[in-house]
Parts: sequence; C-alpha cells; structure tokens
Amino acid sequence: MSTTKTPITVAYGDGIGPEIMDATLRILDAAGAQIEPEVIEIGEKVYKSGTKTGIQPSDWESLRRTQVFLKAPITTPQGGGFKSLNVTARTSLGLFANVRPCQAYYPYVDTKHPALDLVIIRENEEDLYTGIEHRQTDQVFQCLKLISRPGCEKIIRYAFEYARAYNRKKVTCFTKDNIMKMTDGLFRKVFDEIAKEYSDIQSEHWIIDIGSALLADEPERFGVIVTLNLYGDIISDIAAQIAGSVGMGGSANVGDQCAMFEAIHGSAPDIAGRGIANPSGLINGAIMMLVHIGQGEVAAKVHNAWLRTIEEGIHTGDIYQEGVSKQRVGTKEFADAVIERLGQQPQHFKAVSYASAPRPIHITPGIPPAQKKELVGVDVFLDWKKGTANELGDALSSLSDSPLRLKMITNRGVKVYPEGMPETFCTDHWRCRFVSDNSGEVSKEATLKLLSLLHEQGFDFIKTENLYTFDGQPGYSLGQGE
Ligand code: NAD
Repeated sequence: MSTTKTPITVAYGDGIGPEIMDATLRILDAAGAQIEPEVIEIGEKVYKSGTKTGIQPSDWESLRRTQVFLKAPITTPQGGGFKSLNVTARTSLGLFANVRPCQAYYPYVDTKHPALDLVIIRENEEDLYTGIEHRQTDQVFQCLKLISRPGCEKIIRYAFEYARAYNRKKVTCFTKDNIMKMTDGLFRKVFDEIAKEYSDIQSEHWIIDIGSALLADEPERFGVIVTLNLYGDIISDIAAQIAGSVGMGGSANVGDQCAMFEAIHGSAPDIAGRGIANPSGLINGAIMMLVHIGQGEVAAKVHNAWLRTIEEGIHTGDIYQEGVSKQRVGTKEFADAVIERLGQQPQHFKAVSYASAPRPIHITPGIPPAQKKELVGVDVFLDWKKGTANELGDALSSLSDSPLRLKMITNRGVKVYPEGMPETFCTDHWRCRFVSDNSGEVSKEATLKLLSLLHEQGFDFIKTENLYTFDGQPGYSLGQGE
C-alpha cells in the first residue's frame, strides 16, 4: 500500500455530525488510513450567514482539489429558499450514482429479513429532481421530468460494472414504463440494451409499484437494484428501514471526477450533543471511501472490526436489544470498541475483503448518432376559464388564417375535444395540439404565426412544446383517448 497520504475534504456537519465524524476519523487513524483531511464548514451556520447553498463558494476549491468528500449530516433550515446542499453537491460535482448498500445484521439488529443483502444504485442528477417547476395557471403547477440517454447509460452501466466488481449475480431495474413510456421507457430500453453486454449477470425488470412491494416483502430476492432518482430515493429508505438499521447505512455519491461519502441518516437534532449517536452509518460511508481511494486493505480492517463489535453485542442505544446486546455504549465508547478490535475477524458474519474491489468505476457514455428530426406540429398550452372543452375547441377550429389545424385538446392528459366525455373534470389548463393540414412537416414560422394569432384573439398561451418525429418515430406521447 502506498504511504502517500490522500487528501480528503471533511465536513463535521450539524447535530450529531461532529460526534460521529470525530469517532469515524479516530477509527480511520487507528486503522492506518493514509488520508489527509482538509476541514470545511457546511450546513446550518453557513446557511444562516446568508449563503443559500450551505457551503462557502471558496470551499468548492477544496472539493475540486481533493475530489473526495467525507460528509457528516447537516441540518437544512426550513423555509427561506435554502437549497439542499446534498442536491447541489450531487449535481454540481456530477455525482451521477448514489450507491447504498443495505444489509441485515440479524440477530444483533432486529429485522424480519435476516438474509437481506442488496445494493441500490440510484440515478442522482436527473428525473423530477432537476427542480424545474412552474406554476402555469391559477389551478395547475408543473414539475418537469428530464431523462437523458447519456444519464441512463451512465447509471445502468455503472450498476452492471458494480455487480461484476462486487460479485453480485443479478441486476434488477425498476421503472414505471407502462405509464411513462418515453422517459421511464428510455431507462428500460437502455437497461435492456446494456444488459445484453453483461451475459455473466442476470437481469430483470419490475414495474416500480410491484417491485417495491416485493422489495418490502422478499428483499432477499434482490442483489443490485438500479432505478431512477425519485424511485431510488424512496426505495433506499424502505430497504434501510426493513434491514432494521437506518442508523447503520452508509452511502456513496460517485461521479467521474469526485465522490462524496456519508451516512444515510440526518443530523438527529433530538439526540445531538448527548454522546449517544450511532456512528456506524458514517463509518460505513468511510469504508466505501477507503475502497474508492484504493485503500481496500484498511477498508476491510475497519469493516471487519466493526462487524466484530456489532456481533459482540456492543451497541449504541438505537440498536440496543435486551437479551441480545451485551453492553450499551455511547458514540465514543463504540469507536473505542471498534479500535480495540482492529485486526480481528468477525466470527458470526462473513469476513469482508476488498482485495479485488475496483478503483473508481469510470463510465463514458456513447453518443448516439443524430436522427432525422422533423417538426410535425405544436402543443400550445392555454390558461382558459371561459367555458367548456367544446366551446374552446370550436373557437380554435374556426380561427381564420390559422397556418395549422387543431387536432385535439386534452385536459390533464385526457382528450376532451373532439368527442370528449362529459364526465371528464377539466381545469383551467388546456393542451391544444396543432398539426399541418396534410399531417406533414411544419415550419417554425407557422408555429410563430399561430401563437401570434392566438395572442391577437385573446388566448393566454402559457407554454408550447414542439412535436418532432425522429427518423419518422413520434417524439411525443398521444393524449389518453387520442
Ligand atoms: P434523522 O435521520 O436525523 O433522524 C431520524 C430519527 O433517527 C431521530 O429520532 C434520530 O434521533 C434517529 N437517528 C438518526 N441517526 C441516528 C444515529 N446515527 N444514531 C442514533 N439515532 C439516530 O432525520 P430527520 O429528523 O428527519 O432530520 C433531521 C435533520 O437532518 C433535518 O434538518 C434534515 O434536513 C437533515 N437531514 C440531513 C441529511 C444529510 O445531511 N445527508 C439526510 C437526511 C436528513
């Protein structure tokens, strides 16, 4: 092992953050980790000093230089327009993969699923979490779900590479592609394409709803799960909870250049400063960090000593069970117990080795060939409160001099004109689909002329979406009932 120390950026965070970071760094030091921490201040104090992102602009320098961030949890003040530091760090540093191993430590930590041992790999940069939201009418708010092919490719390839590197036999994909055929459909399509390149690893897909139900009921059937940002966020907490150990899980946020490691839990202000917090989540995050920086031997030493401590029943209050636990300890005593066991192997749990663990997995997404893109129409969204769907449809159909023909109107996705159903509830938000008379190509000028005409006639257009075909295939969904 190299004796050159790897610089890492460390943040002690808020609440129980300083206590668990102190415990973790003491263990790493005692284990011989060759690291050189650079401490930065993040979180509540920084937010309250007026920095909306929770991190001083100058501290990005440290992160860019070290490219490794060991972060304790922080408290995000409620209201006041403060931005989540986690989301900012993930997106600004390109940390596209959130990796959350989740394991049962039965019988030492109580769970209904003793064989649970899985890893959730969640896409971290896209989906509904891009935060592009708009209020468009009195009644309707919108959040944009963005999914890109390179984004899908990076995370899915990462999941297969991870499975291969860590000897996992199966990768499962969760999407809702039966409903979101274009966005989730793309994720599924890329998954099916990439799965074919990894014939040594089983692959399967579940719709997220039944997939989550199976995860909650029979988690032992899963190895690696790869999914989109929102679903991944939700199922990661379900998996941690049913493992019986939200306080024990660590997580890695990995990008091409930088990576951030943390505990999955928050800053636990209710127990802060009492010296009773369980540092295991951050210890597990730090173990992932050591593997990432090529110090797998130290990672294994810490991991095995930690497993030994857990199985000897030395437990913090959050996992203490009468009759199972042997000693109730505080944060500091727990860290001391791990340090005493450095060099020992667990007796009940399987000892861990990171000898063949990979250095950072690098993924370069391919750029698909450009396809022939043709404009074939436009969806114009109107804020309109003056009457029924038929009245709006008739008014738009009879616009004189319109360069485009009204094809249909939907309200919240359901076709309401022509031949809508009288039972359909309508809001003040209407999508009006215009196409050319011969259903062929449409010019940008025609769409501009249409908007100008609508404006002159007093229609309040709130947004437009161009309708394109790509190599003749529609790049837009049909209205329900279209
Ligand atoms: P939390 O995870 O902080 O606490 C939930 C419960 O679990 C509390 O009862 C707490 O005492 C307990 N708990 C959590 N970690 C523990 C540990 N290591 N040992 C023992 N008990 C532990 O969740 P919350 O209360 O919803 O959030 C508190 C704050 O943390 C909020 O400001 C939230 O925004 C923030 N938060 C930060 C992060 C992060 O920085 N990564 C993640 C989640 C929440």
